[in-house]
Amino acid sequence: MYVCAKCGHELFSSRSKYEHSSPWPAFTETIHENSVSKHEERRGAYKVKCGKCGNGLGHEFVNDGPKHGLSRMHNKQYKYITF
Ligand SMILES: [Zn+2]
Repeated sequence: MYVCAKCGHELFSSRSKYEHSSPWPAFTETIHENSVSKHEERRGAYKVKCGKCGNGLGHEFVNDGPKHGLSRMHNKQYKYITF
């Protein structure tokens, strides 16, 4: 599971991670509805922040995921933890 590097808020499940050519982990969905907060930066691109502390995480690109209708979310500010 991937959590916020700053506050440890739960962000993305390893299950929603997929292979992408970018150097950062890419995900299709967040763990919780309120895991991240987003605001539109330009059409089809959102800035993604931690839903708890507002730490800037990366971007979401709508309809650019591994399958039609899925988004691609980058996470550059994360900690990876396992159970
Ligand atoms: Zn945070």
